[in-house]
Amino acid sequence: MLSTHATDGAARTGVLELPRGEIRLPAFMPLGTAGSVKAMMPENVASTGADIILGNTYHLMLRPGAERVARLGGLHKFMNWERPILTDSGGFQVMSLAKLLKLDEDGVTFRSHIDGSEHFLSPERAMEIQRLLGSDIQMVLDECPAYPAARADIETSLALTTRWARRSKAAFSGVACFGIVQGGVFADLRARSAGELIEIGFDGYAVGGLAVGETQGAMFETLDAVVPLLPKDKPRYLMGVGKPDDIAGAVLRGIDMFDCVIPTRSGRNAQAYTRIGTLNLRNARHAEDAGPLDAQCACPACTRFSRAYLHHVVKANEIIASMLITWHNLTYYQDLMQSLRAAIAQGRLAAVAAEIARVYARAGEAESA
Ligand SMILES: [Zn+2]
Repeated sequence: MLSTHATDGAARTGVLELPRGEIRLPAFMPLGTAGSVKAMMPENVASTGADIILGNTYHLMLRPGAERVARLGGLHKFMNWERPILTDSGGFQVMSLAKLLKLDEDGVTFRSHIDGSEHFLSPERAMEIQRLLGSDIQMVLDECPAYPAARADIETSLALTTRWARRSKAAFSGVACFGIVQGGVFADLRARSAGELIEIGFDGYAVGGLAVGETQGAMFETLDAVVPLLPKDKPRYLMGVGKPDDIAGAVLRGIDMFDCVIPTRSGRNAQAYTRIGTLNLRNARHAEDAGPLDAQCACPACTRFSRAYLHHVVKANEIIASMLITWHNLTYYQDLMQSLRAAIAQGRLAAVAAEIARVYARAGEAESA
């Protein structure tokens, strides 16, 4: 399923083949949270270069419901996206968005953040929902401890996550199923988690529980400890990450797949990600700037409109502001992945990653408002 084309240190470029299409690695997956990539038409998401998107089990199980999506022909048909979809297990949102009522060996009972209704999610139900949605890559249900957490709590949580991973795998039927390595920032617990998951055997391995408030340094140290333990012939997915410099640093450490809310959420919040860092289009300095947002970008926001126009539609709360800046941000993220893939093939990833880190360290200060 995974073919590696080139390596550069721990990083690799290649292709993950799935029945619905090939995913070029390293890959960035835009969020299609509740059956839409917010503010984007599906064909335009594809035109940015996205080979795969992510759907959220938690959101879709609450509304419109997995059984309803299945009756309507599955998520791909429902949202008119023909390429692969990865679905998460719902665990992260249950523990962050919902009101958690009970967590025990069986699973989690929680109240919907939408209408307060009570729901239950077990490892078996999480896999059933993902099967009903028609997911191409299904994720096991894991427990996501809050950060920071005491080592003893992480250790208890990790043991439960492994037992749930075993039950998830037993309940799985479909194309591919990924396990999720937990263990906080403790290298030995991460190693224990990875070892237990590899023994169960998955089609890919995710690193979960990062980008939850720890420093970038701590995240990279954790990856340095975990990634070398993961099988070389399976894809590795860093969940919920991140900013361009987080992604470049993680690719350098051998990560193949990413998802993050940043390009879409920032797109609805006037924040553009570019080759020279982040730009806040709400800023008055763009008001009479007739130049493009990013002269090197081929997206419609950059080729057909000026910074002044983007500033205007942001200030006027026009819907097209969210559409254009999201389109740009998703294009930038896919261009970033393409440049990382090219850098790996040319054996110059370290230099490219260092340049991205330099730009984002500097620009973050200039435009944060
Ligand atoms: Zn653009």
